[in-house]
Amino acid sequence: MAERQVSRTTMGTRAITKNQFDLAADLIDLQKHMRRILTMPFRTVAVEVPVRMDSGEIEVFRGYRIQHNGARGPCKGGIRFHPDADEEEILGLATIMTWKTALLDIPFGGAKGGVQVNPRNLSTREYEAVTRVFTSRVSIVLGPYRDIPAPDMGTNAQVMAWILDEYSKRRGYTPAVVTGKPVALGGSLGRDEATGRGVMYIMQEFSNDFNIPLKNGTVVIQGFGNVGAHLARLLHEHGTKILAVSDVDGALYDKQGLDIPNLFQHAYVERKPVQEFDGGDRITNNELWSIACDWLIPAALGGVINKETNAESIACRVVVEAANSPVTPIGDKMLAEHGIPVLPDFLANAGGVVVSYFEWTQNLQQLPWSLDQVNRELLTRMTRAYRTVRDIVSERKVSWRTAAYMIALDKVAEAERLRGNH
Ligand code: NAD
Repeated sequence: MAERQVSRTTMGTRAITKNQFDLAADLIDLQKHMRRILTMPFRTVAVEVPVRMDSGEIEVFRGYRIQHNGARGPCKGGIRFHPDADEEEILGLATIMTWKTALLDIPFGGAKGGVQVNPRNLSTREYEAVTRVFTSRVSIVLGPYRDIPAPDMGTNAQVMAWILDEYSKRRGYTPAVVTGKPVALGGSLGRDEATGRGVMYIMQEFSNDFNIPLKNGTVVIQGFGNVGAHLARLLHEHGTKILAVSDVDGALYDKQGLDIPNLFQHAYVERKPVQEFDGGDRITNNELWSIACDWLIPAALGGVINKETNAESIACRVVVEAANSPVTPIGDKMLAEHGIPVLPDFLANAGGVVVSYFEWTQNLQQLPWSLDQVNRELLTRMTRAYRTVRDIVSERKVSWRTAAYMIALDKVAEAERLRGNH
């Protein structure tokens, strides 16, 4: 079947996910009304977030909480603080959460939230104030059995602690209303590194099946935040060479492999730009894409691998989508023509939501797990989902992404039908 042609460098997450949805919906003969239900949001809440800044002026930011689908359980998804976090982008990300929770077989639906603000321009007091005002204005649709936020780009465990506090002021102590909290407030051990660890588990499976080396293999990573930095650290511990990494300000390259433990301390723990690290060559963010490697891992923004900037020059053996929607549909097609498989976002980066699920269950039961138990259960769930997708890839001769969509769409549509409304 011909892929629908969509090519804009700035293509957003919503357009990307819609295009991917259509391909799989055709393959599983999804009915027309179900296509509509599964592409539109269940509920969109848009709020204004007025905050008194340190200057004394009041600034007003736009915020959203979008619940895409809750047929399989309470809605689940992160909150992003980013200037581009508009309604289309948040809906696209909420949609990915629906497919991710279905594919990983955890009892949640999909949601996402966002505030259009650059957290780097906020003082700590302003950052907390934005979080609290946003939370109080969307709290009516949140709750442990309704909608459970988590961290995403521009937010972290501290932000989740503020959300917990703000929500609990009105409803009483409710740790299960948010995941990705500090451990001291009911967070789960292992949550911080869970997304990166989950990416690594998927890579280990793929490496075993398709003979692409992980130990002594070579990796390039775009983005050195929560996902990219933990992934780099874990891979390095397993003997993988990290040739290059980047952040928003630039990239660093060493063909012998970067000194990841010290770079992790410098860039992730101390929050300094990667290019200020003493070691490796400075390269531009664009040069990163054409480095020859085994594994190329976008772990920052959506739409970054596309026809216009880089798809033609990519020189890896496999792309692993640690970020959400980093490859545009045309980018996907070009990679396929070059024989480069793409392990899709909602399989590869699902580790975070899986451990969020463990955190939620620990909160509801008031029974914390050991780190060993968290990592063991994470491995089981990631491996199971990977194998289900792999089997469809080989049976139906479709891409990894389409196979993952076929499984997820089928599960959500079944839940919708069983609820009896359609
Ligand atoms: P983060 O804010 O911790 O880190 C983002 C990193 O990307 C930073 O190093 C930043 O400097 C870098 N970056 C931003 N713009 C860039 C650019 N133009 N070029 C190069 N680097 C750039 O965010 P995160 O939590 O690591 O999330 C990264 C991606 O992974 C997002 O797409 C997010 O939706 C996705 N994701 C995150 C989680 C999670 O648990 N944190 C789970 C699933 C998916």
